[in-house]
Amino acid sequence: MDDIKLMNAASMQNEVQIEIEKGMEVSEEADQNLIVNINNVRPETSYGESETYDPLLAPYHRSIEEIEKMPTIEQTKTVCPECKLIVDGTIYRDGDNVMIRKHCPEHGWTIEKYWEDYDMYMKMRRYNYYGRGFDNPNYINENKGANCPFDCGMCERHKSHTGLANVVVTNRCHLSCWYCFFYAKEGEAIYEPSIAELDKIFYNLRNQKPIPANALQITGGEPTMHPKIVEIIEHAKKAGFDQIQLNTTGINLALNPSLAMKLRHAGVSTLYMSYDGVSKRANPKNHWEVPKTLEVARKANIGIVLVPTVIRTVNDHELGAMINFALNNSDIVRAVNFQPVSLVGRMPSRLREKQRISIPGAIKLIEEQTNGVISKSDWFSVPYIGGINKFLEALTGEYKYDMSIHFACGAGTYIFLDSDNKIIPITRFVDAAGMVEYLQRAVDEMEGKGRLERKAIAVKTLVGFRKFIDKSKQPKSINFSKLLLSLFTKHDFATMGKFQMKSVFIGMMHFQDEYTYDIHRVEKCDIHYAMPDGEVLPFCTFNVFPEVYRDKVQKQYSIPSREWQQTHNEWTYAKDKYTRNIKELEASEEYRKTYGKMIDYFALPVNGGKPVANFANEKFS
Ligand code: SF4
Ligand code: SF4
Repeated sequence: MDDIKLMNAASMQNEVQIEIEKGMEVSEEADQNLIVNINNVRPETSYGESETYDPLLAPYHRSIEEIEKMPTIEQTKTVCPECKLIVDGTIYRDGDNVMIRKHCPEHGWTIEKYWEDYDMYMKMRRYNYYGRGFDNPNYINENKGANCPFDCGMCERHKSHTGLANVVVTNRCHLSCWYCFFYAKEGEAIYEPSIAELDKIFYNLRNQKPIPANALQITGGEPTMHPKIVEIIEHAKKAGFDQIQLNTTGINLALNPSLAMKLRHAGVSTLYMSYDGVSKRANPKNHWEVPKTLEVARKANIGIVLVPTVIRTVNDHELGAMINFALNNSDIVRAVNFQPVSLVGRMPSRLREKQRISIPGAIKLIEEQTNGVISKSDWFSVPYIGGINKFLEALTGEYKYDMSIHFACGAGTYIFLDSDNKIIPITRFVDAAGMVEYLQRAVDEMEGKGRLERKAIAVKTLVGFRKFIDKSKQPKSINFSKLLLSLFTKHDFATMGKFQMKSVFIGMMHFQDEYTYDIHRVEKCDIHYAMPDGEVLPFCTFNVFPEVYRDKVQKQYSIPSREWQQTHNEWTYAKDKYTRNIKELEASEEYRKTYGKMIDYFALPVNGGKPVANFANEKFS
């Protein structure tokens, strides 16, 4: 399960110092024999114990009397992190921060950082809108979602269709990441649904109304551990999914290039690949294997999305470097999707305050680390796309795939790599806000009109589009108006493909935890999990309340470890685990080519000139 890092508080009781010590043990072992079983490797934190004051933490340390005087932005419902009681939540402003506070009659106050930039919060909030839920919800009861988030399944209150459906095909994994509690540990039951059970899930998703799920993410554990992974993809394709992505470490593909080819032929279009940093320290999970995975993906023509989980003090100093890495491999890397960490489970407050980072926090660091090339003003919230979507719906009269998640859940921008190595964010030559307002006016004008009239308005609108594009600033290698026009008129993946070949999408997706929980967000969630019992669950109920949803259902469909062993003759837990040969990997041509010859785009004079850290010659010690 590599698209998120949900930190299990229970595994973190010993805090930062232990992480450092653990990291050092691994380094010594690596020095001795260069063969590392990477189970339980922990990244080192960048701040030491001596640090006692951090201005970022100030909003946590005020008195309740002081906090209650802060200006309220809005009221919501949330949960007590201790007992999960649904309680009132207040989202309020504290200087530059947006915070959430809540009070449980039994467990007292909880104060948490919600967004680390008030101005950006208010800007993104403008694009909030309700999408379409389900005409055929799975779970209908007398509550009608009033007990949200405990009426899930989906219920009739939910306000977004399934944008991305996650299907877990195994909980076995070849790694044992220290923060993860998705994979089956030794002796635990194995969850590996049969093809028949998976078919049921796929067709259930495809039968959603009015918009059938169209994008599928096959996940785990490590999904390539499933012996029938290729067959599973074939079945998903047959069920009618247009886009199928595999959420993977990429390690098994690096070891077995022919598997990548088979997966591509079966229908996988994208590898959604964990990548927590360019350096070995920040990314002990797959730093060494990624160069081979990139090469294998190139040959198989599978696009890659790098998925870094961002933890303050752990890898937040490498955000610019990761974007630079993507630019160096932009022939195959389509996107970097940063995921600020979700701190699931009870966690000591000191550690939580230190490691918490929100979308604007990461955006500000990217601005610093890219010399201002990708600045705070270059980002837009995900539901911004809704304006474009509404225009397409009004034009065609058909429901379109929507992106109606809450504005605080996701943000993104496109950056273009021009022929002279200049990096140009899309917002530098497109007036994005003006364009959406312009489209909204066209949508209003089309309201109640017949097909021909709508078409005439659309043509007029598309002709007027050019005024939002500054040709003098657009990348020399593209004609953006032409590209956009064909995107609107054809609206197909071939056009999207052309667009992506010249750009890298930089995204942010912040999943919730008990501290930040806001039902205004979860009721709009469009990233869902589908289960064999027919339930479809928002990401942030599935993972934040595992005892209510994920674990309960998976348990019903799991096989006890002993029984698994009896029915799978050759299987042992130890055999599932991956052992890395660092020396061999570092000597490989792919490794030297990938890390040894990187251009530092942000150090080039054309992009501002100050170097991003160079990790090419870094030692793992
Ligand atoms: S242990 Fe496996 S499933 Fe869990 S995060 Fe690591 S790679 Fe993903
Ligand atoms: S999260 Fe959605 S499906 Fe779940 S209870 Fe709330 S509105 Fe209903």
